[in-house]
Amino acid sequence: MKIAIAVTVVSLFFLTIACQTSEKNIPPVTNTTTNSTNTSTTTTTVKPSSQEIYDTFVRLTLKNSAGTAAITIRKWLPTKTQIKVYWDGGRTTALMSALDKVMADMNVLNKYNKMLRTEVVAEADIIINRVEAATHNSKYASYQVSNSSVQGTTFTQWTSDAITKAIVWLSPTTPSNLQNGVLRHELTHTLGIGHTDNTKSIMIPIMSNTNYDFNSFSVLDQRIIQILADNRVKQGSSEANISAIIKEYAAK
Ligand SMILES: [Zn+2]
Repeated sequence: MKIAIAVTVVSLFFLTIACQTSEKNIPPVTNTTTNSTNTSTTTTTVKPSSQEIYDTFVRLTLKNSAGTAAITIRKWLPTKTQIKVYWDGGRTTALMSALDKVMADMNVLNKYNKMLRTEVVAEADIIINRVEAATHNSKYASYQVSNSSVQGTTFTQWTSDAITKAIVWLSPTTPSNLQNGVLRHELTHTLGIGHTDNTKSIMIPIMSNTNYDFNSFSVLDQRIIQILADNRVKQGSSEANISAIIKEYAAK
């Protein structure tokens, strides 16, 4: 028996993150009664408009990577009640905690597919590997990282628009202050979500000069994940099939 398998590849780039670097040079506010000296506003908490939610969902899940052609919904089947995540190379305690937080945040938004960690590689649905690209490529020959200057690359494998497996490569040289953001971005790709230019989403391909809270999902991203997880949104659905459902969430 031969099963047709397709793999999509998406990579994340980072340029300089000017906001984060300069924040360190901001003097603490005097006469403050709180412990917080961080007075910057993140885009994460900014409420998106209904149109923004609609357009971003369509761009992230119903367009090809260039944004030029319509595609159909690609997602894990609702009957896949557990998605098991195995971290291969390059673990750190901080990153494992960040992974647990991303999975917990996703599990709140998706009642069908619950992500959980596994230590059994053979049962893993998602494998994360944070090693040099050459090392990764020799071990995962079917999931070759072609550009090792990016911070991360996600390979999503699917058949008949149902995602069956994902491999996440993380660059081991990503600065520590960006690692949580890269991890959250790549894990979100494994759901069947692509890229957008909207800076309220963690799914921008070049995360420069943005001020996203890497330790939580923005309101916009929460809506996107909720819509995709809705059981009425089927793998293979077109925009026309589900536009009323997208609008329902966008109006909330
Ligand atoms: Zn990406």
